[in-house]
Amino acid sequence: MNRREFIKISASIGALTTLQMVGISCSRNGNAGPISLTDLPYAEDALGPYISAKTISFHYGKHHRGYTDKLNALISGTPFSTLPLVEIIQKTHGQAEHAAIFNNAAQVYNHAFYWNSMIHGGGGKPKGAIAQKIDAAFGGYETFAEAFSEAAATQFGSGWAWLVADGDALKIIKTANADTPIATGVKPLITIDVWEHAYYLDYQNRRTDYIKAFLENLVNWEFAEKNLA
Ligand code: FE
Repeated sequence: MNRREFIKISASIGALTTLQMVGISCSRNGNAGPISLTDLPYAEDALGPYISAKTISFHYGKHHRGYTDKLNALISGTPFSTLPLVEIIQKTHGQAEHAAIFNNAAQVYNHAFYWNSMIHGGGGKPKGAIAQKIDAAFGGYETFAEAFSEAAATQFGSGWAWLVADGDALKIIKTANADTPIATGVKPLITIDVWEHAYYLDYQNRRTDYIKAFLENLVNWEFAEKNLA
């Protein structure tokens, strides 16, 4: 896809429409079922040396693809098979009998959002509207970065840290396992995956080094800003 299409898709993710639009554009991946595996928005080696091609290859090719395939198998022949991804997530959230569908659907969404949260040459202090919002909410970029790092580092076990817009206010939250702010209609702006599979090949147990690299070298602030809209 070209850059214009990527930005359009990124905006559509942020606007909480559905990932169906992404899926439609990426159906050439050919996985069976109504939910398509989204394309990576860059080459597998684009985030090096901070995240290696090997990590991306496993994380996208095995984990993200695995969640997508499992979701399609789980919803096959059920009323969920005709729903957009975000609706599947919201309708199964908190329902024990649909926990497997929720977990796989949320992980499909979270990973697509995570890939778009990073870009080659990203990271550091943002500019423009997102910078102003961060200054207003946290009193400056440094305070934001400290709080985001703390949330990502202290998420016990597997999960995610997020910068979200809850109404007008920007907040940092963390979610466990597959849980996702989109489940309750909170608008995500940026996320970092802190499951070990996201960093172990490159950083072993040094999660804080991975978080530092994410903030200093990878965050796609342009994506975050589009998600504000
Ligand atoms: Fe992951």
